[in-house]
Amino acid sequence: MPPLTLDTPLQYVKGVGPRKAEALAEKGLKTVEDLLFHLPFRYEDRSRFATIGSIRPGMKATVSGTVLSSVLKRTRKRGFTIFEAVVDDGTGGLLLVWFNQPYLRDILKTGREVVLYGEASVSRYRARSLQMENPQYEVVTRDGSEAIHTGRVVPIYQRVGDLSPRMLRAILHQIVSTLPDNVPDPLPESLRESLASSEPLDGGPATRAQALREVHFPPEGADMEMWQSRASPAHRRLIFEEFFLLQLALGLRREGRRSEVRADPCVATPEIRKKLAAVLPYHLTGAQKRVLQEIADDLTSTRPMSRLLQGDVGSGKTIVATLAMLLAVENGRQAALMAPTEILAEQHHRGISALLEAARYRVTLLTGAMTAAERRPALRAIEQGYTQIVIGTHALIQESVDFARLGLVVVDEQHRFGVSQRAALRGKGAAGATPDLLVMTATPIPRSLALTLYGDLDLSVLDEMPPGRHPIKTHLRPESARPRIYEFLRDQAGKGRQAYIVLPLVEESEKSDLRAAVEMAEELRERTLKGLRIGLVHGRLKPEQRDETMQRFAAGEVDVLVSTTVIEVGIDVPNAAVMVVEHAERFGLSQLHQLRGRVGRGPHASHCILVHGDPLSEEGAARLRVMEESSDGFHIAEKDLELRGPGEMLGTRQSGLPEIRIGNIIRDHGLLERARREAQAILEEVRAGAPGARHRGLLDHMKRQWGERIGLMDIG
Ligand code: ADP
Ligand code: MG
Repeated sequence: MPPLTLDTPLQYVKGVGPRKAEALAEKGLKTVEDLLFHLPFRYEDRSRFATIGSIRPGMKATVSGTVLSSVLKRTRKRGFTIFEAVVDDGTGGLLLVWFNQPYLRDILKTGREVVLYGEASVSRYRARSLQMENPQYEVVTRDGSEAIHTGRVVPIYQRVGDLSPRMLRAILHQIVSTLPDNVPDPLPESLRESLASSEPLDGGPATRAQALREVHFPPEGADMEMWQSRASPAHRRLIFEEFFLLQLALGLRREGRRSEVRADPCVATPEIRKKLAAVLPYHLTGAQKRVLQEIADDLTSTRPMSRLLQGDVGSGKTIVATLAMLLAVENGRQAALMAPTEILAEQHHRGISALLEAARYRVTLLTGAMTAAERRPALRAIEQGYTQIVIGTHALIQESVDFARLGLVVVDEQHRFGVSQRAALRGKGAAGATPDLLVMTATPIPRSLALTLYGDLDLSVLDEMPPGRHPIKTHLRPESARPRIYEFLRDQAGKGRQAYIVLPLVEESEKSDLRAAVEMAEELRERTLKGLRIGLVHGRLKPEQRDETMQRFAAGEVDVLVSTTVIEVGIDVPNAAVMVVEHAERFGLSQLHQLRGRVGRGPHASHCILVHGDPLSEEGAARLRVMEESSDGFHIAEKDLELRGPGEMLGTRQSGLPEIRIGNIIRDHGLLERARREAQAILEEVRAGAPGARHRGLLDHMKRQWGERIGLMDIG
């Protein structure tokens, strides 16, 4: 077999095979490198051995001994098996019980030496004897091979498809023990040297290979705490590398942008300004005025705009975008607004059309839900330049959409789109011209971080709410309080108010969650809230059905709308005054903040009721309490990142940042800063004409890792 490299497809790794390889590939894990970056989400210390005689019920312990006897039982429930074995180490006997693992009969044979890790309990089956249920096991071999699952600090992995943590551990152990010491290291040698002798990376593993090994299998004597919190030297080495490559990629993209120039910027004459002011239905807030000026400055400059507009839910981003589009339109260009869902695109279309109707601007909707017959005239109007403003979904980036003179692209809730989708829309400008780009998000990230991570975008912030908003009261309630919550909803409906009830939708078990939503709507309709008008929307409905229900809700014809999180972004129904979130503990805080932002949009006192499981973990309670205490999206986002801890960086994914595999931009801020400085130094060398091949390997590696994810494909 050829030696293992990082590019080796997983199916060629010993012990993987086609079936497991397929399961891994389904989750995007195709090569050795992919799997190496599937880090353990925790570690378990199974290194200290206890004697069987010394363990007590409730203790988690590692023990070793000899199998004295075993038996496989079949229960009356068909197909259900129990495998029992007794192990003795001279200080006592321990009963081991495994459910539905009949093959253990052939592994844990009488006379074999085994190591076990599990929690001891009092046997249900044999009086006064201690047992372990489903313990981790390992047969001791005499060939000197290392123990993998017991007798050491072991990594615990998130399941991948139906591959158990144990299987993953075995595969990763195979990989790290055959990984050659000289796996390519993207960091330039000089940088490696300077890192090895300075904060914050001194004393780390000597090679990249070693770092990759140690993040999976901590060396003997490792400080568990550090590994657990991803702060071990090995983790830090890899996090630095990740940040460094990202900073390099962002730096290159920024330089690419800087060099773009255009011949015909917009103008903002007093007449044009007057026309814009004429459509305003209210006075802009100070923040809106400031941001609009920033945008106007961009549109009238010779460098195309690339601007990120951050504004909390309800801060009024839409009107700002609308005015920006009008400025482009008044300069003879077309503008396009892309929204992540049909519902949102249609809402924008309705709202903006109504606003611009009197002034006779020509606004067109384009979504995937439209029939071919509806779409044809829309496409023609866009192509011939009749349409001035196009509002739509992903449908806008399809090949068949051809703009006559696209000048401004606005992307709403930009974190819902991939970089390539934003780029695709921007690519629809006339030959050689780059349209201006405004991306908007309600997920705030601290300004310093935004600058570090979105270094190539200019940033505008709407930090002021439109007047007349009532603060939303937030309540945490256990499930047992549901009857009172429903009473409250009835009461609110009596006053003419509407309510949302949102249920989480977990990808893994989409079907059963869907059933929960359907059942809840039925239960409310038939019994609990009988007499009220109950609506139901979820992701599996046909868009027309969903829209019809949303429409009726917006028109006040539905009292209570039960929904999965499809309503999360952007929906604007001012008469809705109550937001009930079921299983609130399953949501990210920023997501809860978004949901809460669906109410409090009208003149009524509004409530957000977070219903949680009972009991709630301490961590869960701490998180939900943040919602009770704060209505500041920035504060909430920061807390979210802080509290979410290690693991998949859901926080970054939601905020639309490039997806970071191991680092945490809050926790590892120091590493991020250092990485940024080092990347800048390299970029300067490259710019100063560093000898040809000097950084070629590094740049290639960077492009492979980040190119697609942050839209670098166009950079040579
Ligand atoms: P978001 O920033 O979350 O997209 P929207 O643009 O949907 O917020 O605005 C939320 C609501 O606030 C809308 O109903 C909008 O009409 C209203 N609004 C926006 N700006 C102002 C303002 N300056 N004065 C009064 N109402 C405003
Ligand atoms: Mg919005």
